[in-house]
Amino acid sequence: MSELVSRLKIIVERINQLSSSHRSPVRLIAISKTKAVEDIIELYRAGQRYFGENYVEELEKKSNNQLIRSQCPDIRWHFVGHLQRKKVPKILTRVPNLDCIQTVDTIDLANRLNLNLQQQSRNLNILLQINTSNEKQKYGIDSKQFLSLYDYIKINCPLLVCQGLMTIGSLNNVQTQSDQDFHALIKCRDELCAKYNYNIKDIEISMGMSHDYERAIQMGSTIVRVGSSIFGARH
Ligand SMILES: *Cc1c(COP(=O)(O)O)cnc(C)c1O
Repeated sequence: MSELVSRLKIIVERINQLSSSHRSPVRLIAISKTKAVEDIIELYRAGQRYFGENYVEELEKKSNNQLIRSQCPDIRWHFVGHLQRKKVPKILTRVPNLDCIQTVDTIDLANRLNLNLQQQSRNLNILLQINTSNEKQKYGIDSKQFLSLYDYIKINCPLLVCQGLMTIGSLNNVQTQSDQDFHALIKCRDELCAKYNYNIKDIEISMGMSHDYERAIQMGSTIVRVGSSIFGARH
């Protein structure tokens, strides 16, 4: 087994251990940004299906790659970067096997996505990105405003299937800070479920990266986004 595949296996094993008490398994998105198509194919062969990218151009390129197209028919791409409105047509028409955009954070972006999906007569999974650390330079909607964004989408953007919430959290690598971000996201989930009488287990929670995915799962994450611990450091 290659080093790459054995790193994947270790993480999958760890995720399964930590989520054994959860009602449904935690999903791993392998964040492949800056990494080679060959690595993606190798992980696909080892059983990984979900991959994530944070630039539209890179996602477009990789998802259309001939080897990926022929050897990874069931690959599912998640977009986890900031999405500019002007790139909506590109991501919606030129990315085969796009499964989810995790970073919807404004009414404008939601409207643009919905309008474009209308032209294609299809729907799309999304998550709402919440800025749980309230750092001004970061994207994501404020945790005090996300419910009105959710309400708006529910009424006005029927082609957006909102599966749950996502946070990147503070870039500051300290556990107490991660914990605060994770708590804040769980609190948003609880508010959403209380308002609409949803079952908590029906709402996806995307939080946790290489350095804190274990903690995130313990705190209720259902989707973890792991890059460097699988692929190795980015340069
Ligand atoms: C890069 C990235 C990750 C993965 O980060 P690692 O620390 O390499 O695991 C997760 N989420 C988002 C949004 C990212 O951009």
